[in-house]
Parts: sequence; C-alpha cells; structure tokens
Amino acid sequence: MTSPSQFVFVTGGVVSSLGKGLTVASLGRLLIARGLRVRLLKVDPYLNVDPGTMNPYQHGEVYVTEDGAETDLDLGHYERFTGQPTSQKSNFTAGRIYWDVLRKEREGCYLGGTVQMVPHITDEIKARIRALAAPDVDIVLCEIGGTVGDIESLVFLEAIRQMGLEEGRERVLYIHLTYVPFIKAAGEIKTKPSQHSVARLREIGISPDVLICRTEVPLAEDVKRKLALFCSVPFHAVIEEKDVDTSIYELPLTLADQGLDEIILVHFRLARPTSRLADWRRLVDRIRLLEPGPRIAVVGKYAELQDAYKSLFEAIHHGGFAHGVRVEIVKVPAEEVEEGRQLDTLKSADGILVPGGFGSRGIEGKIEAIRLARENGIPFFGICLGLQCAVIEFARHVVGLEGANTTEIDRDCPHPVVCLMEEQERIHEKGGTMRLGAYPCVLEKDTRARQAYERAKVSERHRHRYEVNNRYREVLAEKGMVFSGLSPDGNLVEIVELKDHPWFVATQAHPEFASQPLKPHPLFAAFVGAALRRRRNETDVG
Ligand code: GLN
Repeated sequence: MTSPSQFVFVTGGVVSSLGKGLTVASLGRLLIARGLRVRLLKVDPYLNVDPGTMNPYQHGEVYVTEDGAETDLDLGHYERFTGQPTSQKSNFTAGRIYWDVLRKEREGCYLGGTVQMVPHITDEIKARIRALAAPDVDIVLCEIGGTVGDIESLVFLEAIRQMGLEEGRERVLYIHLTYVPFIKAAGEIKTKPSQHSVARLREIGISPDVLICRTEVPLAEDVKRKLALFCSVPFHAVIEEKDVDTSIYELPLTLADQGLDEIILVHFRLARPTSRLADWRRLVDRIRLLEPGPRIAVVGKYAELQDAYKSLFEAIHHGGFAHGVRVEIVKVPAEEVEEGRQLDTLKSADGILVPGGFGSRGIEGKIEAIRLARENGIPFFGICLGLQCAVIEFARHVVGLEGANTTEIDRDCPHPVVCLMEEQERIHEKGGTMRLGAYPCVLEKDTRARQAYERAKVSERHRHRYEVNNRYREVLAEKGMVFSGLSPDGNLVEIVELKDHPWFVATQAHPEFASQPLKPHPLFAAFVGAALRRRRNETDVG
C-alpha cells in the first residue's frame, strides 16, 4: 500500500558543506507558496543517537524543537524558511536506527531470525520516514545528510531507493545537490565531479530527477547541457544555485525563477496554482535596502564558529530587520576578555550579548563583559548561560556575595546562586536529560520583557540543567534585580532584568530558536532597538 503523501529526497554529492539544509528549507518554502502541505525531515548517517552530546566544533549548534528534541541545525533553517514547527519526528540518525533495531533484537521481536542491514535496518529507516506521511500532508521533503559515496550513507540510499519502488516512481522524486567547481588556472567550469557523483548514485539504483548545481559562477547553457547529458537528467531540471549576494533568504526566489517548484508539481501530477511568494519577495527587497545598524558584540566560547551560534546570529539579524537595519555582529572570544583583551571592542559596542554555553572555559570573561555592560549602560541580552552569568555578576559585584558562582563550575562555592534543582541532582546520564523543549513563562507587569512580548504569558524552548537558586532571590531583588519572568508556579526564574539601565534583559530560554525572518523574535527586536538608540544617540552627540 502506498503512503498518503508523496516524497522528495535530497542527496548531496562531491563535497560536504554545500548548504543542503538551506536548499531543502528553500524548497519547502516554494512548495508551501504553491499551497502544498509539506513536512520536512533530516536524516543523519552518523552513529551518535542524537546531536545533543556532540561538540559544537564537530557539529555546530544543537537545534531544539518545541517538543524537546535535540536536533541538527538544519531544522532551524526549515523552521525559519517555512514558518512551520519541526518535532521529534523531523530528525533521526543512524545511531538511533541501530539502537532501535538492536533493542528489538534483544526483546526477541525478530523471532530468532538473522538481523541484517537489509531488510531490518532499511525497514526501520523507511518506517521513520513514512511516519511523517499523513492524509493532511501532500509532500514529505527529506534531506539525506552526508555525501554520496560515504560508507555510512549507503544504507540510507538503499532505503530511499526501495521507497521509489514501493511507493511508485511517480510518487517519489530524487534531487541531487552537487558542486560544479570553477578551476581558476584553467578558466573552466568542471562537470566531472558531478558526473562521478551521479554515477555513484545510479550504481546504487537511484537516478536523480533534478540536479541542483552549487557554483560560484553562472553556468553557461553548454555546461548545463553537458551536465544534463552525462548525469541523465532533462535539461530544464539542471538548476543553477549560485552563491547568493546579499542574504540566504534570496535562495527560494533563485530556485523559483528556474521553475524548481514547477518541476516537482509536474512530476507528481499536482494542480499548479500560482506561487504566493509576495511576502517573501518583500522580505528580500527589505533586506537589500537595510541601513547600517548597531554593532553587537557576542561574547561566546565558540566565538569563531559561525555554525555554533547559527540560530542566534540569524535571530540578531531578524531583530535588525524589525528596525530596517543591518546589524554588525562582532564575535568576541570570552577567553580573550578573561585575559583583559577586547575591552575596547566591548566598550565601543552598541549592545553586548552573552549566549548559551556549557563548561568553565571563558566563563569569567563572560561575567566581565556583563559587568562592563551593566556599569556602562550598554544594552545587554543574556541567553541561558548568559542569564546565569548575569545573576553571578550581580551577586558578586552588586550584592557583594564574594565567590558567588554556578555549581556547574564550582560545586563548593560559598554562594551557589545558580544550581541544580533536586530532580536534576539524581540524573547521571548525559543524553537527552536536560530541561528540554517549550515551557511556559508568566511575565511581570511593567517590565522590559512584558513590553517586548506585549503579552502576559509566553512559551519558549529550553536546553539546560541549572537554574537560579531560589534561596538567593530575595537578596538579589533587594538590590534591584527584577525577576520579570517566572514559571507559572513561580518556582523557576525564567527572565531577569535591571531597572536603572537602558536595556538589560536575560532569559533562561533560547528565544533564538523561535525567531523567523518574517516574524523577528520580540526580545531580539527590542534588544537591537535599544542598541540602535544607543548608536544614534552617540552619533548625535559626536
Ligand atoms: N550550562 C548551563 C546549564 O546547563 C547553560 C546551558 C545553556 O546555556 N544552554 O544550565
């Protein structure tokens, strides 16, 4: 029996880091603009059960869904481009698949049969992909992580090959994203790597229907004809994906201009309503016209890593879109602040942001940056560990609690102003055991948080273990720290802020995950707004 939905699979060839996630997210937007109901899914061939315990140097940001899954950062692109929530079902790894199959084997589910890659692992993969199909979903859009030719990817490619057969070839479409390099010395564009990559796919039994070509230079017609011939795809299905000029949000338009959505609708024999991309076109036009904006210093442990703070940087830019300005982000390694460097960068910034993080490296630098923001009236935004550092800084320097710290760093500190709640004390396993996913928060009247959100109750995603220690709330409040957001039972501190400061707000949640280009997150919009006011005032005075 066929699934209620049809399937688009996107594989990658030649090299990694081609931006497959962005391409899939853009395609999602295009299909939605054609009135289709779409679900997006990312499959990762590595053996970790989920990316939650992986080092950001290896993996980049861990994106958290509303329902608390720790997932691949591509899901962030999916949500930002499609405006639709992702969930536990939207990402799985090879590790998760093997884990489930081995557990079933131990439980005796296979009745003594020999357990094999085909059919047991492939069946498990197909079941997880089909779990997104439903009568109210037209297309399941599935990205296969990794690069064709990797040993790890093989079993996934075999599974999606089987799906073509089982669902019917007309209900499955294969897109291959490839790289077409320009060799400077020869002054030539080379199609050979793409030919090889597609040949590998065809060896497995998958003939792509569409070839999307990442390139730095435009592809001339003869190059496209060559690619079509050697890769065995129709000429009109060779799509050029040149590096975008101003912003990643242009990509859906580039793909729409070449009729990618049309090809998919024709393949699936679907009705072809006109594309409703007006809102997206307006967004891209607005981005092109952004005025120079404030300079925001992000003081992080992985400051040099673009991918470690993917959603954060996007959310800051969205905050800029809300004011028609292009924010300049300065990445400041927290360790350098610890060594007394970068202080001028911080002092001359229009806003300082301390993002989430784990472990002790650079933490004193973050605390120092917050002190600087507080004492100099520089707009400050703290996120998760950023809130915890703000509380530590305030406890040490305003309340006078010497040695105040989080027990994550110093278990035996004299003033554990941030600590583990009782239920976390008992947990020793690392994977998936933090406070994860969306939690409600009630906002106090007449606070910056309430002003920004314009609502009394909000919900934000979390990913942390430690919490503000309630035993210290009173002394902190006495000295002027405002607990502007609390869990509905009042037990957990969600947002803190300072009154006599232009804008000093920190949240235990990760609002960056929820920000979208068409709907900038209110806290990011308010923070950038405050930074912009500082910049304009200084320019006026200067
Ligand atoms: N390490 C801190 C905790 O676990 C903060 C986590 C974060 O910033 N995401 O509570």
